[in-house]
Amino acid sequence: MALQIDLSAIVTNWQTLAAMAPNARAAAVVKADAYGLGADRVAQALYDAGARDFFVALASEGRALRETLPRDAVINILSGHMAGQNLSGLVPVLNSTEQFFRDRAMRPGQPFAIQLDTGMNRLGLEAAEWAAIRAEALAAGPAFIMSHLACADEPDHPANAAQLAAFHQMTDGCGVPRSLAATGGILLGPQFHFDMIRPGVGIYGGMPFADAQPVVTLALDVIQTREVQAGEFCGYSATWTAEGPLRIATVAAGYADGILRSLSSSGFSLYAGQTACPVVGRISMDLMTVDVTALATVPAQLDLICPEQPIDRLADYAGTIGYEILTSLGARYSRTYI
Ligand SMILES: *Cc1c(COP(=O)(O)O)cnc(C)c1O
Repeated sequence: MALQIDLSAIVTNWQTLAAMAPNARAAAVVKADAYGLGADRVAQALYDAGARDFFVALASEGRALRETLPRDAVINILSGHMAGQNLSGLVPVLNSTEQFFRDRAMRPGQPFAIQLDTGMNRLGLEAAEWAAIRAEALAAGPAFIMSHLACADEPDHPANAAQLAAFHQMTDGCGVPRSLAATGGILLGPQFHFDMIRPGVGIYGGMPFADAQPVVTLALDVIQTREVQAGEFCGYSATWTAEGPLRIATVAAGYADGILRSLSSSGFSLYAGQTACPVVGRISMDLMTVDVTALATVPAQLDLICPEQPIDRLADYAGTIGYEILTSLGARYSRTYI
């Protein structure tokens, strides 16, 4: 099982997104182990390309990254400051009045940022809470103020304009750098860019960044092949039955490796070059079965993620999004970086 990660494609995607917002700093979101691709390697490559602002979800992720990145890299923690946390060398994005006062009491004089809620109702201070602490917060000198768009992957969604207006209303005249756009927001246009952009999934080759270079290829080992006759079944619960004589390959990866069980019978394929080999029967924990009748010879490996089947195509088959496919990719793959 070989997961190949193209660091130069990651850098190119980040640079392409950065060039769309020439007046903004381009940060990089590397939460969840850089969407499953390896935060240490990805962050280092982006640092070498000039990125200095990084975002992770949790303080534990930030502490791990702090040990690998040079001192001038800023590591922002999206979950903010929760009780009892060690945030040394990190910048919490404070999400509530409670977090703000906790952070100012525990870390006076240390850098922090503020997140405002502009409608998503997930993280950040609401307008009234912000109004109550705004003067004190601004006096303490936040590194930046940010909010997050709920529907940026749908350009026509009315929530985009509403959140933009709310962000202006809450932050105009603050005199502090502002950040609103993740990948989807960058693509919405310059009025969403403000002073810092926060791309994540687009760096990793995922939608909604349609022009992204592919980053990931995943090749899976074939363990054995067999002939089945019409009427024979494959896999647990006998959900699939051969309609004629077929050649079946058993491949060494399953739902424990992030190949979601909901992909069973969804119509996706493994690829030998450009030849599609339909996956048949249930995905099991460590294995799946593939119809390789179309192949003259069965190679040692078949591709699950490749130019013929990018992550978002696979996500469609599974009824999910590219983000979940990436972050599900399991720990058993050998990761090679090119
Ligand atoms: C995950 C996340 C991002 C990155 O989003 P993408 O859609 O992956 O670009 C940016 N900002 C916040 C607050 C996030 O949670």
